[in-house]
Amino acid sequence: MKKFTFLFITAALILSLCSCSGSSAIQTDGGNKGITSTDNTDNSDTSLTKGSKESINDTSDEISTVSIDECDINTNDIVYDGENSKPPLTVSLSGKQLVENTDYTLSYDDETSIGKHHLTVTMKGSYSGSETVDYYILPPAAEITDVSSKVSDITISWNEVPNVDGYIIRYSEDKSLPDSSTKTAETKETSFTLEDLPENSTYYVTVSTTKNAGNEKLVSEPSEVIEAATKKIEVIDGVTYIDGVLIANKTYSLPESYGDGLREETLDAFNTMAADALNDGISLWIVSGFRSYETQTYTYQSFVYDRGVEEADRASARPGHSEHQSGLAIDVNTTSSEFEGTPEAIWLEEHCVDYGFIIRYPSGKEEITGYKYEPWHLRYLGKEKAAEIAASGLTIEEYYGITSRYS
Ligand SMILES: [Zn+2]
Repeated sequence: MKKFTFLFITAALILSLCSCSGSSAIQTDGGNKGITSTDNTDNSDTSLTKGSKESINDTSDEISTVSIDECDINTNDIVYDGENSKPPLTVSLSGKQLVENTDYTLSYDDETSIGKHHLTVTMKGSYSGSETVDYYILPPAAEITDVSSKVSDITISWNEVPNVDGYIIRYSEDKSLPDSSTKTAETKETSFTLEDLPENSTYYVTVSTTKNAGNEKLVSEPSEVIEAATKKIEVIDGVTYIDGVLIANKTYSLPESYGDGLREETLDAFNTMAADALNDGISLWIVSGFRSYETQTYTYQSFVYDRGVEEADRASARPGHSEHQSGLAIDVNTTSSEFEGTPEAIWLEEHCVDYGFIIRYPSGKEEITGYKYEPWHLRYLGKEKAAEIAASGLTIEEYYGITSRYS
């Protein structure tokens, strides 16, 4: 790209004032500009070596000036910060930096917006000529603030960057984000979900901002590359785990022989919780803990007998699909809709997470969990996982991106 708008080459009139002689170079250094989606703005460094200049009349008393053609002008693009529209700039001659206002003056266009701008270098004193140099005010970069993943999704979020038109997400399984394997997506939102990814896969992701300026689409420097992986579904001896969390629902079943009682950690957590609840005047007890495959067969069958298959499936698990068989689920106090809204139910809603439990089948999530609201059914996850999932406001199915549906 030719940045100089003129080239006076009147060698005969040029008298070198510096000690050197021979060739000198004019460099047009555009600096590093962000990626642009159009190619007609190539801003790569270029170097133009002019032919030798002739020093003549060295001994003359006549006052002569050095043309700007002999000087190197270096500037860089800048990032929009709302106020500073002046890029760094140096003018030098044979490595010696000239002095602004003594050797040259600068005038800028009065634009402070993101886009392509120009400035004019006008030489003075012992130098002559002027040059107009282009530079870019680039959109500011974004910073990734949050990453979360499911079995087949990765969601990334970033800060909202003012004065830009949108964001470009680039992601690849290759850390170096090569063009050949990097996918891109654009959004105006401040988060984006990479969907339909294979489970247990690692991706590298960056975000850049974009701004349309004239007929160019300017792209900021990319954010830091973050690494994120989709979650892995592990099946060990017929039992499904995600993130170490046992999954038992309508999609994922337990082997017939699995389970031999309520797990010790479930019972310990319940006992601690019940003791603390009692201090608040709340009485809690377990009405159903572990249920074996055989027991569940009878439980489910009796639901079917009473209500038919369709209604039974909304309230009771088919054998092998009950969380009660895992030893990690308990029903407390009353397994009927009368429990809803009682002081006990409200206390559980507020406090069970502190003991490592979640309300497994919340209100309004039947389509997702496969079950009607059950304020009495608690699932033990341990304090850390329970807190994590409760804070997300999601069910286990939503949190991990899995289904609960009989095949
Ligand atoms: Zn239950």
